[in-house]
Amino acid sequence: MSGLKKQKNGELIVLSGPSGVGKSTVIAELLSNRRDIYFSVSYTTRAPRVGEAEGVNYHFVSREEFERMIRDGELLEFAEYVGNYYGTSMKVIREKLEQGVDVLLDIEVQGAAKVREKCPDAVLIFLIPPSLEELSRRLYQRNTDASEAISLRLEQARQECRESVCYDYLVVNDNVVDAAQEIRSILEAERCKVKKRIHLAHGIIGDADGRKCQ
Ligand code: 5GP
Repeated sequence: MSGLKKQKNGELIVLSGPSGVGKSTVIAELLSNRRDIYFSVSYTTRAPRVGEAEGVNYHFVSREEFERMIRDGELLEFAEYVGNYYGTSMKVIREKLEQGVDVLLDIEVQGAAKVREKCPDAVLIFLIPPSLEELSRRLYQRNTDASEAISLRLEQARQECRESVCYDYLVVNDNVVDAAQEIRSILEAERCKVKKRIHLAHGIIGDADGRKCQ
């Protein structure tokens, strides 16, 4: 399977951050203003939580089905996280990027590292909590996991936050609206990068191919 080729107008955006940091809320806030972004619904072997729906939060599949998808090369990336598989289907993402649509992935750090390898132009953003104490408070408040699972997730969170140094951008989720606004600003700045819009200058500078920067 060859890696994804990111098209001129389709930005591949990866958002990671420890469980409970508020990724879903920040994503909902972001998408409420950026309806043009396509949110990739992942596949997982984890059981649905109360309020989660098939095809909305995840595609919930059996371990057998997930392992078949791995074997058949259907996944752009996948990882095992706290005993369950999570993965991103290649097909839809490829189609959207080729249509010039920006695609947002909410994935953990191992998966993000694989995306970085396959799609070096992807924009990697890490969402971090203001503190570990605050993260613990949010996980208990969410009340969706047993306390044993929460301890596991907190330990995992500490490890994951160490990986934030490998990302392009760090956003602190102290306040959902501000965090989403920062992400919007990042995406806007990314769009303005010279390499992504050099064609706009061709009428003025001619074909700049071969021009070396000192
Ligand atoms: P949760 O069980 O809390 O919904 O998700 C656990 C972790 O799995 C989160 O950090 C989430 O970002 C990550 N995750 C969700 N979908 C994917 C995916 O498709 N691939 C990878 N690698 N991680 C994912």
